[in-house]
Amino acid sequence: MKTLLIFALLFCFAADVFTQTPDRQFIRTDAKVIALAHVRVIDGTGSAAKEDQTIVISDGKIQSFGPSLTAKVPSNAQTLEFNGYTVLPGLVGMHNHMFFPMGGSPPMYSNMGISFPRLYLALGVTTIRTTGSVQPFADLEIKKLIDAGLMIGPKMHITAPYLEGRGSFTPVMHTLTGDDDARRMVKYWADLGATSFKAYMNISRAELRATVQEAHKRGLKVTGHLCSIGYKEAAEIGIDDLEHGLFADSEFVADKQPDQCPQRVSASLRQLDINGPAVQETIRTLVSKNVAITSTLPVFEAGGAPLAQSGIGASSALLNQRVLNVMSTDARVRYLQARARVSPEPNFVALLRKAMEFERAFVKAGGLLIAGLDPTGNGGTVAGFGDLREVELLVEAGFTPAEAIQIATLNGAKFLGEDARIGSIRAGKQADLMVVKGNPAATIADIENVEIVFKDGVGYDSEKLIQSVQGLVGIR
Ligand SMILES: [Zn+2]
Repeated sequence: MKTLLIFALLFCFAADVFTQTPDRQFIRTDAKVIALAHVRVIDGTGSAAKEDQTIVISDGKIQSFGPSLTAKVPSNAQTLEFNGYTVLPGLVGMHNHMFFPMGGSPPMYSNMGISFPRLYLALGVTTIRTTGSVQPFADLEIKKLIDAGLMIGPKMHITAPYLEGRGSFTPVMHTLTGDDDARRMVKYWADLGATSFKAYMNISRAELRATVQEAHKRGLKVTGHLCSIGYKEAAEIGIDDLEHGLFADSEFVADKQPDQCPQRVSASLRQLDINGPAVQETIRTLVSKNVAITSTLPVFEAGGAPLAQSGIGASSALLNQRVLNVMSTDARVRYLQARARVSPEPNFVALLRKAMEFERAFVKAGGLLIAGLDPTGNGGTVAGFGDLREVELLVEAGFTPAEAIQIATLNGAKFLGEDARIGSIRAGKQADLMVVKGNPAATIADIENVEIVFKDGVGYDSEKLIQSVQGLVGIR
C-alpha cells in the first residue's frame, strides 16, 4: 500500500513537471516581427544564392524577402544582423526515424524520443517523415506534444509500423500473414494518425497491392525499402516512393524469383550500366508513374569505412567529434568497433559511386529525388548530423549545392503535398529556416555551422539543443 502511494505520487510529480512548456533557454528569439538582415539566401528552389538579402518574419511566416537596400523593415521588428551568414529553408527529412540501432543479435532498435527530436531541430530539420516505426504510439504522441508546444522538435509526418513479410531480420517488425492483414494494418494505423506506410524487404506483391489500395483510398502514400519486389514491379503496383536509391533494387539479379528477396543484390548493381537500356527503362517507368526516390547516402557511407581513402567524403565526417559526443558510451563503442571491423572494400565504393550516378540520372530524367539520413546501419548516422551529411554527399554525387539543398527541402515538401507552406524561402510561407555561418553555396561543409533554426518563426539555439543531449543517443 505504501509502495503504491509512492508510485502514485511519483507519477503525479512526473506529470506535473511534464505539462510545463519547454524550457525557454532553448529559444533564442520569439519576437513577433524579426528581420534577418544582410544575409545570403539559398531559397530551396535550386536557383543560385542571392547576396545581401533581408528576410522579414512576422507572426511565424515569411512576410517578405529581398535585397537589403530596398527592404522595408517594420519599425517594431527585432533586427538580427547576420553578415557572413546564409539562410536556407528548414530541411524536410524524408527518411528520418525516431529510432536508433541498439545492437544485439537479432538486432534491436529503440526510440530516441528525447534526443532525436532535439537533434533534428537543432541541425535545421524542421519537418520529418518517420518512414517506418518501431514504437508507433510513442511517435504519434511525440508528434502531438511537439504540435502542442510541450516538446521541442520538428513537424512530424508519422509512418505506420513496417509492412514486412516472412523473413524479417529483426523482431521489431510485425510479420504480415497476407493481403487481409496488410489491409487491416493500414486501416488501423491510418485511423490512429499515421499518414504514410512503408513496405519492407520481404513483402509479397499481393500484400503490397493491398497496402497501396487501402492507403490510396485515404489519399495516403506508400513507400518501400524493397527487396522481394523489383522497382518496375512496385511502380506498376502503384507504390509512391522507393527508399535508398539504387541500393534496394533487386530486379537486376539474374535469377530473381517472384516475391523472394534474392542474395547478391549488391553484386548485380555494381556492374550496372546506368546509361544502358535496362536501367534507363527502370528510370522511365518510375518517372512516368510519378514514383519518387529517397536518397539516403549517409547510412551507406557510415557502413563503408574506406570511403575516405577512396576520395569520397572526408574521414572527419565519419569520426565527427560532435556526433560522437551525443552518443552514449555504449553506442560510441559499438559504432567504433563496427567501423574497425570493416576492411577496405573497393567494391563498396564502386557501388556507392553507381548509386550516386543513378540518382543524378533519375533527376536528369525528371524524377523527384528526396532526401533523408536513415539513422540505422552500424549506428554512425545520427539525427540531424546525418541530414546535413546527406546534403554534402549529394554535392559529392555531382549536384550543385543549390540543387542538393532543393532535394533536401522543396522536393520533400512537394512529395508531402506541403510545398505551398514549407520547403522554400518565399513570402507567405511558414518561417521554417536555418541560419548557418559561412557560405554553403561555395563550401557545402559550411552547412554544418548551424546557429539558429526557426520553426514557425520561433528561433531555437542550435548549440544549446545539442548540448542538452550530450551522451544520450543510444539511451533515450
Ligand atoms: Zn530506414
